[in-house]
Amino acid sequence: MSDNGHKKIEIPAMISVRDLAQNMDVSPIQIIKKLMNNGVMASINQTIDYDTAAIVAAEFGFEASLEREPASEEKESGEVPAWRQMIADEDEKSLIPRPPVVTILGHVDHGKTSLLDAIRNANVAAGEAGGITQHIGAYQVELKGRQITFLDTPGHAAFTAMRARGAQGADIVVLVVAADDGVMPQTKEAIAHAKAARVPIIVALNKIDKPNANPDNVKKQLGENGLVPDEWGGNTMVIPVSAKQRQGIEDLLEAILLVADNSDIRANPKGAVIGTVIEAQLDKSKGPVATLLVQNGTLETGDIVVAGTTFGHLRAMFDFRGRKVQKAGPSVPVSVMGLDDLPSAGDLFQVVESEREARRIILERQEKARKESMAQKKASLEELFARFQAGQARELNLILKADVQGSLEPIVNELNNLSKGEIKINILYAETGNVSENDVLLASASQAIIVGFNVQAEVSARRLAEAEGVSIRLYDIIYRLTEDIEKALKGMLAPEFTEKAIGKAVVLQVFTLSRGNRIAGCKVTEGEVRRNSKVRLLRGKDIVFEGEVASLRHEKEDVREMRQGFECGIGLKNFNDIQVGDVIECYVLEKTRLE
Ligand code: GDP
Repeated sequence: MSDNGHKKIEIPAMISVRDLAQNMDVSPIQIIKKLMNNGVMASINQTIDYDTAAIVAAEFGFEASLEREPASEEKESGEVPAWRQMIADEDEKSLIPRPPVVTILGHVDHGKTSLLDAIRNANVAAGEAGGITQHIGAYQVELKGRQITFLDTPGHAAFTAMRARGAQGADIVVLVVAADDGVMPQTKEAIAHAKAARVPIIVALNKIDKPNANPDNVKKQLGENGLVPDEWGGNTMVIPVSAKQRQGIEDLLEAILLVADNSDIRANPKGAVIGTVIEAQLDKSKGPVATLLVQNGTLETGDIVVAGTTFGHLRAMFDFRGRKVQKAGPSVPVSVMGLDDLPSAGDLFQVVESEREARRIILERQEKARKESMAQKKASLEELFARFQAGQARELNLILKADVQGSLEPIVNELNNLSKGEIKINILYAETGNVSENDVLLASASQAIIVGFNVQAEVSARRLAEAEGVSIRLYDIIYRLTEDIEKALKGMLAPEFTEKAIGKAVVLQVFTLSRGNRIAGCKVTEGEVRRNSKVRLLRGKDIVFEGEVASLRHEKEDVREMRQGFECGIGLKNFNDIQVGDVIECYVLEKTRLE
């Protein structure tokens, strides 16, 4: 960084961590770290809003200004979830208001689960006898004849997946903040996610029954985090509630309807059917059962549905009370049977005309996913390479999880002692708790290894780690942990290879063998050719192939090497386009250890 503190940078209203890093020419990991210092957990592909980006930019000595949006909305369309785009494409006249879809976020123990229960029960008391027995990951409540849909999956794999994909299933976020605890890291994370998804936030100021509740202090903190309460002239509704004593629940529901009225929450019930998979599980007797949230159109029993990369004829649908239904319109969650396989939470689903179309869409999605994963790999490799070339210190990124705070400190100290020379250990964060999906997502984004001490990896985290190629290492003895990391560090002092030319041969003739494999009949013109060497096939000035020798023969005999002046047959591994006049250059890679 130059010490001139006034470099200017234009930042759009929303920017991904990756793009911001590129625009400032710093490593995305540095940005992720700065965000973490500010209590925002973001992965490299996540988008952050202008305000957040500007703060980070300032820390790197940039003066940020808001980049003006281009007049057309085209630029944005790529980021809009498919279902929103589809609704936007509907004929204006066909759109009618639909129930708002609400999700509850907040710091652990601030009362998300209690609040969801309180809302559900309050509603049952008002109407339905018998209560809701089914848990399908979403439910609906009614206030003054209007419906509100709640996603009942906080902290759940569904939600992580939806957030990670920016799927933005919800129209409104209710942010639970405990009045006795205030704004905490996950509160900030939730604010960042809601802002990134441009979803309005209502604050449920929970636990106001507690003697040590301090609502004013929380409101102040909220203001500092961009959520200025409306009573203080801001735009954020802050509703005092007690989930435990069931107070303020109706006020909260009213606030939700008010915000809904001011948002464009509409859909076309007669339009194309599209929505989001909330969760899915395998039922022993029913087979795959998925909870789908319809977002446009009306889903009906018998429809052919493509969800993610699976499809099926819907055999039966149930509402959140477990009652069989034939139809589900916009914002209605239903649990469905009939899919061939389990879709993933956060996947989009849609209704198609035929099985053929379903298969075509699935193939397209698989192809797209394959390309994206390749592109991503390439990007991260390029990134690493660029950092190496720029001569920046090499880093081993670690995410550390331990059972108790008391274990963290000694481990961090030990690890810091290990950092030596060129390679640094970079602890992205050290926290207590089991290894979660969130850890894996961040590890994947920042090419980190996760080490756990006296903790376990959640099953979902393991699965994700496998898919993302993230390594999770668990220990119960500190020195084993540090010893292993030390070994890993030594391994990272990867030998550097230098190329050493050993010989050249010119192709005089080309023979085709039985299976179409071709052999170059050559004369060695310089040095020697070895069977275990690397080769480069030159045609004029062009390199047409780089690879290895598959076979080396001298008069029908396999040989290990052939010296200058001799003739030999050379086969190349996985390459047959050999022509007379080509030159085969042989070289070996020699190790040169660093340090
Ligand atoms: P979550 O982790 O956000 O889902 O939080 P929970 O709903 O599990 O609540 C955490 C703890 O706070 C539990 O012990 C609840 O009983 C308690 N709690 C939740 N809401 C209230 C409330 O309004 N008042 C009081 N006094 N305690 C509450």
